[in-house]
Amino acid sequence: MQPFQYVHADTPDHAVEAARPREARYIAGGTTLVDLMRLEVMRPTQLVDITGLAFTAIEDVGGGVRIGALATNTDVAYHPLVTARFPALAEALLSGASPQLRNMATVGGNLLQRTRCPYFRDGTSACNKRVPGQGCAAVDGVTRSHAVLGTSASCIATHPSDMCVALVALDAVVHTHGDAGDRAIPIADFHTLPGAHPEIESALAPGELVTHVEIPASPFALRSRYTKVRDRASYAFALASAAVALDLLGTTIRDARIALGGVATKPWRAREAEQALIGRTTSLETFRRAAAIALQGATPHGDNAFKVELARRTIVRALQRGAA
Ligand code: SF4
Repeated sequence: MQPFQYVHADTPDHAVEAARPREARYIAGGTTLVDLMRLEVMRPTQLVDITGLAFTAIEDVGGGVRIGALATNTDVAYHPLVTARFPALAEALLSGASPQLRNMATVGGNLLQRTRCPYFRDGTSACNKRVPGQGCAAVDGVTRSHAVLGTSASCIATHPSDMCVALVALDAVVHTHGDAGDRAIPIADFHTLPGAHPEIESALAPGELVTHVEIPASPFALRSRYTKVRDRASYAFALASAAVALDLLGTTIRDARIALGGVATKPWRAREAEQALIGRTTSLETFRRAAAIALQGATPHGDNAFKVELARRTIVRALQRGAA
């Protein structure tokens, strides 16, 4: 591991100041960063420890919830406000990682976790995300775990988070603090598509600090569900996942949200598929039609063609659970 400087931040402003050097990184739970530092995939020159900041609260805000960036995945998953109001978020968090990791991993870190593309993590293969302009070993490599939505010629890596998929379906907003002051970024705009610059993964400016996430009250949140399909029952990343939320009047769908994980380069909102649900009844035919629309633009690469049908079926299953 490359040597680095260590700074313990006392306040948000101190953290932002300490993170000013270009190769500085914030550290909290460290469940992604320490792994990648050991692999020398990430080589920060300065670590800014933010665990002393007062960002752990989980609070009611007008029927919604405000979740501090340092709240652990476990604390959020079992919090009564979350389990009672936003079941998809609790399900997504509990479907991710292991209990030990969830006890350490924070909401802020989960938002910013790096891809599990094996070529990114091996430190030796060509990877535009690790070394901009180097090329992409995955394009002609083993692509079973890679994305079919939101890909570019530069990168086809999936975003690994379960939590973020649920946050997209729940219209969450990410709040930040940085040199330009405080910002509120809708979660759908927080993660960026790879395009020609897969090394840029979020809308954060250099040194900008995530302070908390807010999920607003909504008529569809209570009927929100997260369904994840993976190779084994626990401690595995999604091959396909779907977070859905439904506002129903009887069996008629008044409003809907669909977000996908495991198949896209960012947590993926399927807006056209949502529109196809509105005004329809909660039938298998309606759900299959929406699922087909959600995958219309899919572009498989080699080994991952199976994900298109898998994602369709995952959406249908999640919608059936939401409507039940
Ligand atoms: Fe790197 Fe993306 Fe290619 Fe994976 S898919 S090797 S992360 S550029």
